Amino acid sequence: MEPDLVDHRLIHSLDVAAMGRRAASADAGARALFQVSTLDALFAGNLEGDLTFGELAAHGDLGLGTLDRLDGEMIALDGRFLRADADGNLAPIPPAARTPFAVVTRFRPSVSFGLDGPLDHAAFLRALDARLPSGTPACALRVDGDFERLELRSVARQPPGTSLAEAARQQHAFELRDVSGTLVGFRFPGYAQGLEVAGYHLHFADAARRRGGHVLACRPARVQVGLDPEGDLHVELPPGIELGPPDRSADERARIREAEEG
Ligand SMILES: [Zn+2]
Repeated sequence: MEPDLVDHRLIHSLDVAAMGRRAASADAGARALFQVSTLDALFAGNLEGDLTFGELAAHGDLGLGTLDRLDGEMIALDGRFLRADADGNLAPIPPAARTPFAVVTRFRPSVSFGLDGPLDHAAFLRALDARLPSGTPACALRVDGDFERLELRSVARQPPGTSLAEAARQQHAFELRDVSGTLVGFRFPGYAQGLEVAGYHLHFADAARRRGGHVLACRPARVQVGLDPEGDLHVELPPGIELGPPDRSADERARIREAEEG
């Protein structure tokens, strides 16, 4: 582990396993956040993972990610793994399917509260920030309720060698109005950029678990929020993947923003 990898608040708990995945997976079961690969690896075009969703399920019941070749957006909720196809239609993911990037946790909220909106996206995120216990390096969250509007996106399966940046330019954005459903996701600190999406990374599934995707923006009307602060991040790196330097150029940050925030 590189001592200058990330800020000390996270390095205390950041445990990077260069797989040896079988062995690493076996002892990682008790960890709070379990992450497969890194965002940087996706940017570099490593779009095929070697961890199955069946294996991922052993490490958490809530989370998000993608499938091999960026074949849609993944939403993990109540232990179910759902895929949003390019048009935002949800279907269960077979346990044998593999993921090149995912983060999951065993969700146990320690902070719960209601929000009465409507709130625009920025105000919503500020309301979440305001309730985060101070000193929390990372946090898992689940938000259930009614939304006036959601701007979502998904991605179609990419040809080999496509980078995340290229794929993002072909993303499918769509809108849902007046729906009930659930947001799941994480808040990561700025210094985790590259490992993860810094700030909030949220995916959505509607109440019928029929429509969903990666959240570009939302407008909650009345929702119930659960926060699960996490101090421990376990990252499993596929063979050949290394962690990049923590400090990013403005170009790199813009590239990540473009890909993740649409
Ligand atoms: Zn996403």
